[in-house]
Order: sequence, then structure tokens, then C-alpha cells
Amino acid sequence: MEQADNWAAGTTILVVLAHPDDPEFFLGGTIARWTSAGFTVKYGLLTKGERGISPEFPDSQELARVREVEQTEAARVLGVHELYFLDYPDGYLVPDLDIRREVTRLIRKAKPDIVVSCDPQNYFVHETYLNHPDHRAAGQLVVDAVFPAVSNPSFFPELTEEGYPAVKVSELWLSLPAQANVVLDVSEYWQQRAQALLQHKSQIGDPERFLAHLEERRLDNSGPDDRYVERFRRIIFRK
Ligand SMILES: [Zn+2]
Repeated sequence: MEQADNWAAGTTILVVLAHPDDPEFFLGGTIARWTSAGFTVKYGLLTKGERGISPEFPDSQELARVREVEQTEAARVLGVHELYFLDYPDGYLVPDLDIRREVTRLIRKAKPDIVVSCDPQNYFVHETYLNHPDHRAAGQLVVDAVFPAVSNPSFFPELTEEGYPAVKVSELWLSLPAQANVVLDVSEYWQQRAQALLQHKSQIGDPERFLAHLEERRLDNSGPDDRYVERFRRIIFRK
């Protein structure tokens, strides 16, 4: 069966999510798979995660700095090529027009073939937890930027004047999907994802307990034969 991500060499992928650590938690195995395949992967983080709970760093400005470094290290472990931090207030992300303009600017600047975010329709995850409102907002911002603003020059014309003309995106992938239509087996990249997650030291507590917990979650999330899979909603735009 042909793989969903059987793209041409030189394909560029931009992953836009709310918080440092979201890329690794939501699709870390897939990111490792994509960089291993030779694709260029870039991250856009909409916040620096300064409200993430971290007893060690009670000062939110310091935590923002720490998390930026952690995210940069995690991205390095996965072979990511470039990171952009937009620095909106963590916990208060809303899909408004100002941020939609900045997300449009980011996508036009990064010129990706494939844009990745998370599903704005997903309120409930694994029947045990509520999806963070920032995750839904990030997904909504990216979906609304990709269509129609990114490819239509009459949206945010000031961006064209600033040197960011309209670009075409061929696919949108949403991680944490309410309804998946692509399931990727990324068992091979489980260890690399775990190593990337371990870089988020301010968030994971004791590393050994964290790894044990990750193993348990692998069972929740795994496909047949204990394979580790990551799920997506994939939208392919007509040429
Ligand atoms: Zn998050």
C-alpha cells in the first residue's frame, strides 16, 4: 500500500502548534520519520508555554526562556531544521484575526508544501482528559489561515507589501484528530521520540517515571501487535 507521506524529495513541512512539547507529544515519531526520509521540517510555536506547571521555575518569564531552550533541544533530537516562536500568552490563545494574520505570515514565510497542526474539533482525548483550549485555538488558527488566507492575495494585503506574497499549500495534516483518516506506524521512531520528550525537563518530572508512563500510554495508543502509531486527519487540496 502506498504510504500517505510518500512525497517528493525536497518536500517542506511546517508544524504549527500551541506549546513547546506539543510537537513531540502529538507527532514526535512522525517528525522523526519525516526528517529521516530527508524532508525539511520546521516548527512554529504560538506560545512559549510559560504557564506550564513547573515547581522548579515559578517565575513565568524564566520558564518561557527555559522552555524555548528545551523545545530547541527536542527539535534537534528529531532533526528539525528551523523553529519560529511567536510568543503569544500561554493559556489565553484565541483564534482572532490578529493572530490569524501572523500565522498566515508564518506560513507564507516558511513556504511549506505540507502544513501540520492539531484538530480544533477535538474537545475530549482518550475519554480521560479535556483537550487544552490553546490546542484547539492553534488548530483553528492554522485551519483558517491555510484556507483561504495563505493562498489568496486579497487576504491581509499588507503581508504582500511586507514581502510575504500568497503561497500554495498542498496538504493539511491535523494531529490529535477527532476522526483519523491516516494512521502511521512509527514504532521505529519510538526511542527517538522518547529522547526528544526527555528534553522537556521542566515539564516531565522524574525522567524514569515519565518513561514508564510513556510506555503505559504506548499501549493505549498502539495499533495491532503493539506497534506504535500516530493518527491524523489529512486534507489534500486540489491542484
Ligand atoms: Zn500543549
